[in-house]
Amino acid sequence: MTGDPRRRVPIGLCDRCVHQRIVPTSRSIFTMCEAEGMPRYPGVPVMRCRAFTPRDEPAGGGGAQATPPPPAVR
Ligand code: SF4
Repeated sequence: MTGDPRRRVPIGLCDRCVHQRIVPTSRSIFTMCEAEGMPRYPGVPVMRCRAFTPRDEPAGGGGAQATPPPPAVR
């Protein structure tokens, strides 16, 4: 393989979703969906998806994860 394997066509929401799994092969890179009830290999680019969960939020939604307070500055 030549070139950077991370250099690929943007595939929409999946690139920011916790359910995405990148599957590299010797000639291609596939995006696989591990969300329950969703197609394993979605048609890309995915622009709308009911199971989309941003990577910066916990899987399953909610977004109520506690973050520690910043250290006190004196
Ligand atoms: S849940 Fe939707 S946005 Fe997330 S990886 Fe699967 S198809 Fe893509």
